[in-house]
Amino acid sequence: MTQRDRGATGARAEPLGRPLGVTSVRPIAQNADVIVVGAGLAGLVCAAEIADAGRRVILLDQEPEASLGGQAFWSFGGLFLVDSPEQRRLRVHDSPELALEDWLGAAGFDREEDVWPRRWAEAYVDFAGGEKRAWLRAQGVRLFPLVQWAERGGYSAIGHGNSVPRFHVTWGTGPSLVEPFARRVREAETKGLVSMRFRHRVTGLRSGGGSVDGVVGEVLEASSAERGSPSSRTVVGEFELGAEAVVVTSGGIGGDHDLVRRSWPRRYGEPPAEMLSGVPDHVDGRMLEIASEAGGRVIGRDRMWNYPEGVRNPASIWTRHGIRILSGPSPLWLDARGRRLPAPLFPGFDALGAVEHIARAGDRHSWFLLNRRILGTELALSGSEQNPDLTGRNTRELLKRALPGVETHVERFARECPDFVEARTVPEVAQLMNELVGEPLVDSDTLEREIVARDRQVETGLGKDPQLMAIVAARRYLTDRFVRVAKPHRLLDPDAGPLVAVRLSILTRKTLGGLETDLSGRVLSSSGEPLPGLYAAGEVAGFGGGGMHGYRALEGTFLGGCLFSGRVAGRAAARAVS
Ligand SMILES: Cc1cc2nc3c(=O)[nH]c(=O)nc-3n(C[C@H](O)[C@H](O)[C@H](O)COP(=O)(O)OP(=O)(O)OC[C@H]3O[C@@H](n4cnc5c(N)ncnc54)[C@H](O)[C@@H]3O)c2cc1C
Repeated sequence: MTQRDRGATGARAEPLGRPLGVTSVRPIAQNADVIVVGAGLAGLVCAAEIADAGRRVILLDQEPEASLGGQAFWSFGGLFLVDSPEQRRLRVHDSPELALEDWLGAAGFDREEDVWPRRWAEAYVDFAGGEKRAWLRAQGVRLFPLVQWAERGGYSAIGHGNSVPRFHVTWGTGPSLVEPFARRVREAETKGLVSMRFRHRVTGLRSGGGSVDGVVGEVLEASSAERGSPSSRTVVGEFELGAEAVVVTSGGIGGDHDLVRRSWPRRYGEPPAEMLSGVPDHVDGRMLEIASEAGGRVIGRDRMWNYPEGVRNPASIWTRHGIRILSGPSPLWLDARGRRLPAPLFPGFDALGAVEHIARAGDRHSWFLLNRRILGTELALSGSEQNPDLTGRNTRELLKRALPGVETHVERFARECPDFVEARTVPEVAQLMNELVGEPLVDSDTLEREIVARDRQVETGLGKDPQLMAIVAARRYLTDRFVRVAKPHRLLDPDAGPLVAVRLSILTRKTLGGLETDLSGRVLSSSGEPLPGLYAAGEVAGFGGGGMHGYRALEGTFLGGCLFSGRVAGRAAARAVS
């Protein structure tokens, strides 16, 4: 072994060569056929595929073993599938043509550099309507039967949004999606094909003979940090490893708010002064710079998928930990001053449109205004730990969500989260909203006027309010009608419980741009040629091509993008080293 691990001296070791980019041209012995940097979902899929091809892999991660699986473990496990049996059972008519039209409408590809992202988008939609479900099923992944309708759009037929529900929740959420790939990697480890090395942080890529042939990095001190919690960055050694190919699967940038701010598209105004983090601290974007310094081209840096509906997690795990509210369409969405957001910025229609509206207004937050009945029916929380019934595959607990009088996890969360306030009357709720933000921004009379006018529209049974029309339309879909969307009623109906206001902050989450790759996952240089020996997959590669989503996403497409691009890059790297 040529790994030079200087041991736990406690002293900070000097990094080998330059800390970023390609570091050396000295010949180096090969420690494996392929090195994979990052043991999140993309890295696990990639390593499993390489080992299946009989090749030797070293899988490196800066975090301790407890965090194996990266972000995907925390995810809701939502998967974008097209024309699935689950959709058909719910009388949803979907097709690959419709899905691609929706995708391209959401992506809005309009740059010269969008060539590979667009090709990846086409290949991915094909996968989502083809092999994806059967491939996952063969590995034991099962789906919750009620397909959800995310990102409904609300513009024209060729505009942004899902024409039909496509968000399939993994039965067991994120952990159950990670599990088969972690198991495959563990099995390969027992056969001697995979070597996993945690607390190994890559700081540079090696180059020899014009090809990336290894990595250098720092060994971080052992850490007992629990899954997802920040772990120590104390360096206790360094390492250098050689291989015929390196695959980068290191995730996005959402944990580094300075980087998010620097990449923030000014067309959306200034980034809010305070944001919450929807990802663990390890989503630090450093590897993106390292690969870029080594000659890989990063495209679409200004394309990000941050959410407007973040609330503080009362049981915080990572820094500034926020939770995304997944809402049905009924809450009124108000700006910081209590005025309604314009159509079609209703909950669940156009996440980026709402982010843009809020940022351009220079606001730090917005509000959902609803009542107890809507809270019970329509509010859900993203994340595996926020859905213990689904994550635990516990049908009995799940059914309790529908039982009157039983406090659901969301209701308990609302009771504990400091961003929720509740009151019987509009003046009272306005006062609590102002107290929460420490400024008298919401005028009670203006708020009352919005609510009363909206309620008057409900009483007509017809009306002109596009949000109410959207609610009625949503209830034509079986899942929405029976479990997800409350029957239109007056917000001030005393039988619907007290009013609830939820302060929403911008939550950083997905990075849509990244390392430009061809359809084999090979990283391209600025000349458009593949950088020999270097591959990328998952979020660091914009989920394929450097940004297969373009500007916007249809949801459930990130985990799928990691599965697909991890598989593609793993198979291509295995072929290349044979
Ligand atoms: C709460 C939550 C809910 C979500 N819900 C959904 C959903 O329902 N549907 C969906 O499609 N997507 C969802 N996502 C998004 C999705 O989970 C992520 O986009 C995806 O898991 C990213 O996987 P990855 O393997 O590319 O990166 P990551 O999971 O970030 O893994 C990257 C790994 O690389 C390691 N690493 C980074 N740099 C280095 C380095 N220099 N040296 C060594 N190791 C390094 C990191 O420690 C990490 O373990 C959700 C995400 C979160 C956080």
